[in-house]
Amino acid sequence: MSSTAPFQMLIDGQLVSGTASLPVTNPATAQVFAHAPDCTREQLDQAVSAARRAFPAWRDLGEDQRRERLAQMAPRIEQAIGTLAPLLTQEQGKPLASAQGEIGALVHFMREQSQLKMPAPVVNEDSPQRLSVTHRVPLGVVGALAPWNFPVLLAWWKVIPPLLAGNTMVLKPSPLTPLTALRVAELVADLLPPGVLNVISGGDELGPWLTAHDGIDKVSFTGSTQTGRRVMESASRTLKRLTLELGGNDAGIVLPDADVPSLIPQLFWSAFTNSGQVCIDTKRLYVHSSRFEEVVQGLADYARNIPVGPGDDPKTLLGPIQNERQFRRVQGLVNQAREQGLDIRFEGQVPEGPGYFVPVTLIANPPEDSAVVAEEAFGPVLPILSYDSIDEVVERANASPYGLGGTVWGKDEALATSVANRIQSGTVWVNETMHLSPHAAFSGHRQSGLGVEHGVEGLLGNTSAHTVVLKRQA
Ligand code: NAD
Repeated sequence: MSSTAPFQMLIDGQLVSGTASLPVTNPATAQVFAHAPDCTREQLDQAVSAARRAFPAWRDLGEDQRRERLAQMAPRIEQAIGTLAPLLTQEQGKPLASAQGEIGALVHFMREQSQLKMPAPVVNEDSPQRLSVTHRVPLGVVGALAPWNFPVLLAWWKVIPPLLAGNTMVLKPSPLTPLTALRVAELVADLLPPGVLNVISGGDELGPWLTAHDGIDKVSFTGSTQTGRRVMESASRTLKRLTLELGGNDAGIVLPDADVPSLIPQLFWSAFTNSGQVCIDTKRLYVHSSRFEEVVQGLADYARNIPVGPGDDPKTLLGPIQNERQFRRVQGLVNQAREQGLDIRFEGQVPEGPGYFVPVTLIANPPEDSAVVAEEAFGPVLPILSYDSIDEVVERANASPYGLGGTVWGKDEALATSVANRIQSGTVWVNETMHLSPHAAFSGHRQSGLGVEHGVEGLLGNTSAHTVVLKRQA
């Protein structure tokens, strides 16, 4: 794989160029640095038809044969981290070490996912009269769409579970960050029969074309809640199955007994990893009033020493916002907070120049209904809010249309776990944050999503129940 070769799509086992191309911008410089193919409607039809043609043979191959092929993907990707990571930094903005970490996490996920096992068929009745057995059968063709914050991890960890379950696929990364995902497709193209996995890139029209396509049986989508609603609407016409991993506004809760000095780095990274562009970052930090000033001051002191800059500078720990639209949105939230006279306790430094850099910003005790608390900022801006009682903080943490994650910090593990049990979201961490596992169900409650990714439950989400009932002859 040459790092300068043109980017191509994988359709029906062939690497193909687009008839048009899509510019890709480096967010650290705001300059276009490469072009990806812009998939036409005809090419989308070809990809979907190829996936439909490949489906029966892939389904009939059996789980173990499929596993054998899929297990070869992770080592191929692992060997290429050295060339993939700098490309990921260029298109996404994150520091090189974080880009290496993202691809390393993908390798880990894909290795473990290929070892998942479909649960045995369930015997519902085995009597002299009747044998009733429920099997799981694949759905057909899965269309998968990914966002720009972890462009390679969130796209490619969608691949193995549906394929292992016997489906075929069309995968589409974000138009803002398609390049590393396309390179991964080149690396693994020869491991699967033609058409089993198709990887396409394109502009804003391609997502709606894919989710509305009659040849798609399920949509696996990660992105914003707003887009998730549109995906659900377009899937309704042919009743496509859906997995939606959407936005969040996760609360972090610091209990009164927390060891604040030693927690400060973890509290900081729980909110600012990937410059705040993580669906499960802490987006509202609730601190008991007895520890409030200590936490605000500790975070400000820590933030002062975190270099923000281009991801290819080895000193950088926080990169830019990935795209101009999101950059303007996050700037808008901070400007609004300033205009409302909110208590901005800390604003960090950013490099001068055209890149999409936003300073680390800490806002003390903004009103619960201010935009910076109520909306998902998806940038390096953290509201820190004080509370007085456990019942109060649980109520405030749960008063959100979202329910993706959440974190509780405290020395008394039983107390902290009892608080976590009351948080109404898909995953809650106690004394750590953002730990995801290929074996643990990940899901969003309420407007954070629908269905499950990962674990056996995630695998089953790529199947339908198929019950066969035999009436025994006397
Ligand atoms: P987005 O919703 O704008 O885009 C996601 C994908 O959907 C892209 O591939 C895009 O091309 C496609 N798309 C856009 N409009 C479409 C339409 N009308 N029909 C079909 N497809 C369409 O999201 P984004 O801005 O790229 O990502 C940021 C959001 O993603 C944040 O809200 C974040 O919380 C969320 N997110 C959620 C998770 C999770 O697992 N729950 C993980 C990461 C990010």
